[in-house]
Amino acid sequence: MTQMITVLGATGSIGKNTLDVVARHPDKYQLFALTANTQVDNMLQLCITHRPQYAVMADDKSAQQLAKKILAHGAGVEVLSGIDALCQVASAPQVDQVMAAIVGAAGLLPTLAAARAGKRVLLANKEALVMSGQLFMQAIKDNDATLLPIDSEHNAIFQSLPAHFKDDVNARQQVRNILLTASGGPFRGWDLCQLHDVTPAQAVKHPNWSMGQKISVDSASLMNKGLELIEACWLFEVQAKQIDILVHPESIIHSMVQYVDGSVLAQMGNPDMRTPIAYGLAWPQRIDSGVASLDFLSHSQLNFEAPDHSVFPALNLSRQAFEAGGTAAAILNAANEVAVAAFLREQISFTAITDLIDGALNHCQFAAADSIEVILAADASARRFVEEKITA
Ligand code: NDP
Repeated sequence: MTQMITVLGATGSIGKNTLDVVARHPDKYQLFALTANTQVDNMLQLCITHRPQYAVMADDKSAQQLAKKILAHGAGVEVLSGIDALCQVASAPQVDQVMAAIVGAAGLLPTLAAARAGKRVLLANKEALVMSGQLFMQAIKDNDATLLPIDSEHNAIFQSLPAHFKDDVNARQQVRNILLTASGGPFRGWDLCQLHDVTPAQAVKHPNWSMGQKISVDSASLMNKGLELIEACWLFEVQAKQIDILVHPESIIHSMVQYVDGSVLAQMGNPDMRTPIAYGLAWPQRIDSGVASLDFLSHSQLNFEAPDHSVFPALNLSRQAFEAGGTAAAILNAANEVAVAAFLREQISFTAITDLIDGALNHCQFAAADSIEVILAADASARRFVEEKITA
């Protein structure tokens, strides 16, 4: 039986890596829908190559342009537009698996729609879980959906934890802590003065991974690790204090689990997202991902260090937001998204990103995150606050 797949965020870095893996296994996977926002020509090429049944553009104008181009090309793909269509292709009865790879809060509603429809959700879009943790995990449980982490660190933790970790008290007692690894980004070892004047081009130049712009800036500020800390707490139902962050510049170990007997299980591999994507698609089986074997002889040294909290405050801000609970993490996430976009437009300095997040967490009121409306209202209030600060 082939599995029907919807790829949310198909034109992005994770989207394209997913299509690469899927195309290696035409006997196992078929594409139901691909989605994007505004990159029409990029989407046209994907439609011609991969022939999904549907192509959805979140942006209406882009959808109209794509529909014309698809007609002219005779590609035979139906084009839809808008957020409702994104949710429809994520929850359609024909779909088995949904790759959630839209960047940022824009991915929340379609990813939640997939969870509510009981799909197998391959979660790359960490922001969706950070914003709505409790609600999202409840939707997974209530609808018998399957949630598989695609973020390489969470995928590594998932592979290294004992089976049934979440539901089995004995299994939980066997684990001492989770070691969430971080590359440290392009500014590892820098001081605050040096960081103040960095440019977007420097910030998006990640030493090990090739990724979209927003996550690359998040990696440089360590906000990505902060979001991942929150993501891990929700995914594995652990407290923030059970997770230690360890800088590992080579990104060969993707994360580890330490057991009470002193054993440490690590998942290793080349830094290539096709490995966790293939794992998610095929779990509990394994399939070829196109990733080369790890050459240990060319990695004769693996290094580890502690993160520098005085230079990278994002980690502590994230820990505080998670511990505050309610809508605090949605506020943190929204403030970060607006600040990163402003940094990429060269409107604010790199160090202003975390200053603005701190400001939003102090200014915006937290509420219980028990409905999507409350979460979206918190997201909007943080965006307003940061936008006003930037234009003031
Ligand atoms: P990219 O920026 O490369 O791609 C983002 C995708 O989302 C594109 O398809 C884009 O469409 C689409 N998109 C953007 N805005 C909207 C919107 N408003 N509505 C609908 N779709 C939208 O991001 P990445 O692939 O790097 O990251 C995607 C997610 O995966 C993020 O949450 C990131 O944190 C996570 N992740 C990424 C990793 C990586 O290696 N890249 C690793 C681990 C996690 P368009 O092209 O038309 O703008």
